[in-house]
Amino acid sequence: MTAAMYDLMDFDEVLEKYDPVMGLEVHVELGTDTKMFSTSATNFDAPANSNVDPVSLGLPGALPVVNAKGVEWAIKIGLALNCSIAESSRFARKNYFYPDQPKNYQISQYDEPIAYDGYLDVVLEDGTEWRVEIERAHMEEDTGKLTHLGGTSGRIHGATASLVDCNRAGIPLIEIVTKPIEGAGERAPEIARAYVTALRELVAALGVSDARMDQGSMRVDSNVSLRPVGTTEFGTRTETKNINSLRSVEQAVRFEMMRQAQVLDDGGVIDQETRHYQETDGSTSKGRPKETADDYRYFNDPDLPPVLAPREWVEEIRQTLPEMPWIRRARIQEEWGLKDAEMRDLVNAGALDLIIATTEEGTTADEARSWWVSYLSAKANEQGVDLPALSITPAQVARVAALVKEGKLTNKLARQAVDGVLAGEGDVDEVVKARGLEVVRDDAAIEKAVDDALAANPDVVEKYRAGNKKVTGAIVGAVMKATQGKADPGQVNQLIAKKLS
Ligand code: ADP
Ligand code: MG
Repeated sequence: MTAAMYDLMDFDEVLEKYDPVMGLEVHVELGTDTKMFSTSATNFDAPANSNVDPVSLGLPGALPVVNAKGVEWAIKIGLALNCSIAESSRFARKNYFYPDQPKNYQISQYDEPIAYDGYLDVVLEDGTEWRVEIERAHMEEDTGKLTHLGGTSGRIHGATASLVDCNRAGIPLIEIVTKPIEGAGERAPEIARAYVTALRELVAALGVSDARMDQGSMRVDSNVSLRPVGTTEFGTRTETKNINSLRSVEQAVRFEMMRQAQVLDDGGVIDQETRHYQETDGSTSKGRPKETADDYRYFNDPDLPPVLAPREWVEEIRQTLPEMPWIRRARIQEEWGLKDAEMRDLVNAGALDLIIATTEEGTTADEARSWWVSYLSAKANEQGVDLPALSITPAQVARVAALVKEGKLTNKLARQAVDGVLAGEGDVDEVVKARGLEVVRDDAAIEKAVDDALAANPDVVEKYRAGNKKVTGAIVGAVMKATQGKADPGQVNQLIAKKLS
């Protein structure tokens, strides 16, 4: 970001003069098989307008029916966020016209959300915890998707035509809204990022969403306002919409703090408005003036009965909650005896789940870790992909490790087996067979190679007999060469010792 292009106050100066207040709204698309109020499929890669039906197209006379899985998963999220779950909640119509929404209203929840009053404790970089209070988590439906053609920005401004794809219309969404986050000061941007990171990890662990920010299945709006240091009344907020990466969440908050501070310092006022985030330079730009709730003419949707959540059902769902990701992480770190920094590297590299899955196939934690953080990380780097995107599975890595342990592969051969799997040559055993990688167990062949090597290196034999036991490297090397690296070095060493003693 080039500060010169924008009127921004230096971040440190912002903090001397102003106190930020922040609120985060996160939309999570649920991974249910079907839509929230109809039976259309929800897959991301379907051809445009193929996952549609009378309900999601808003055709006259079509009636919505609530997806029970969607409600169950909303409750699951609510419970994981320590919320109270309403015994009865309601769907409302949020009325507005937009071409990506054929009904001209969005089914949402308004004054009776399914989950409310919770919190999420997030860990900051220095290891301290910050409690983010949750106002509500409510159910709604997603809109369709517009593609604007002809412009340069992909936005509607300057476009000559727009395409509508209703596949996404009606996919279940959970909107999670925080209470105002006060007192964060300089940490406001960091807290925003840490909160979204934790939330993403949480919904993924719950198995209710793939939470892919890059594909829009998790989207963040960040509200920011400033008030003069020492005052209590909230300032006017702006809402930066649809931020789609963790880094951008942090940057959007930071930018708004610096921008608003300069406007206020210059004697200006902050307009209550939505803003767009620019990935290119980390800035935000003016969107539209912010509607108030009155503009939407909310009313209870007469097509939908109240959503009932009997206590027994809620308790049943509570029993299905998995171990929270950060608790699991702390447990594993202790079990594996890792330092904080080592653990952080694993998590950042996306290696943790892969290593755990590999140990679940019978590999020791040390071995599994060693494969993923060294050889496979290097391969991922070479290919320019993330570790999880490598075309090898934890089960395959475990199979390679098992073959090493059984003495059927040396480390060097094992790496070749992995190369073969990565190159798409088949499963581990197929690669080992096709590439002829298995360690030579043919004792006669190895013995002959040892004899040949000893005969060819009389000086080594002499030195060895004179007491220098470290000279056998040359012999082992020669044997390996003769067997194309397929002899077991341990066995070769034993043979040499036997022959020379
Ligand atoms: P809207 O529907 O208008 O976006 P929501 O209530 O859904 O409003 O969300 C507003 C978010 O902004 C909440 O997280 C709330 O805590 C936060 N918020 C409200 N007022 C302010 C303010 N003055 N400054 C910063 N954040 C605010
Ligand atoms: Mg909102």
